[in-house]
Amino acid sequence: MRLQFVGCGDALGSGGRSNTCFHLAGASVNFLIDCGASSLPALKRLGIARDAIDLILITHFHGDHFGGLPFLLLDAQFTRRTRPLVIAGPQGIAAKLPVLMEAMFEHSSKTIHRFDLSVVALEPGQSRTFGEVRVTPYPVVHGESGGPFLAYRVEAEGRVIACSADTEWTAALIPAARGADLFIAEAYYYDRIIKNHLSLKTLEAHLPEIDCKRLVLTHMSDDMLGRLGEIPYAAAEDGMVIEF
Ligand SMILES: [Zn+2]
Ligand SMILES: [Zn+2]
Repeated sequence: MRLQFVGCGDALGSGGRSNTCFHLAGASVNFLIDCGASSLPALKRLGIARDAIDLILITHFHGDHFGGLPFLLLDAQFTRRTRPLVIAGPQGIAAKLPVLMEAMFEHSSKTIHRFDLSVVALEPGQSRTFGEVRVTPYPVVHGESGGPFLAYRVEAEGRVIACSADTEWTAALIPAARGADLFIAEAYYYDRIIKNHLSLKTLEAHLPEIDCKRLVLTHMSDDMLGRLGEIPYAAAEDGMVIEF
């Protein structure tokens, strides 16, 4: 399996990083986790074939995770995509996606697609299989608006990838990421405890229980980005590739 960080930034463009979007590909799978507002230009910059992507998992409805979908769908239409596409995310996604599309490109939600587009709502704790990708959502804690919020445990090609999404510490991250081959975890601040986001020191205290094989930090504020030289963990960068 190969993961490329298309974008690993926060909502504020900290460090000049692109909004959250991870591309995962293997012999029989090709999918994205999140599609933030800047994801289409970032995918193009990295030369990632959009028409090979079968599935997009959305963690929540903030623009830095969800706001790229109208651009991606418009691009798919104009490039005459024929391959089916599944977009799966929290409850409400089937209503929120057309509202977002209409706000950005009027009438775009009513465009007749040349390809099959399925929009699927996921329930916490209920695993779903899309092709060779098995997805289990876990409920996480990220405030009052933009939810529901889902962390994902994804199994594909004998590997387990966990993604925390944006969240303050919640015990749900333990089963979501336990023993994962790769855990992509938010580390918004270094040690400051705030609502709705995860700090590295809090995450660090729980790493023995999570016991993942590999950890990569993402969604970092300027505070965290300024400390990358002094922390003993791998941190994402836009364009970075991980084979696992
Ligand atoms: Zn975010
Ligand atoms: Zn968010």
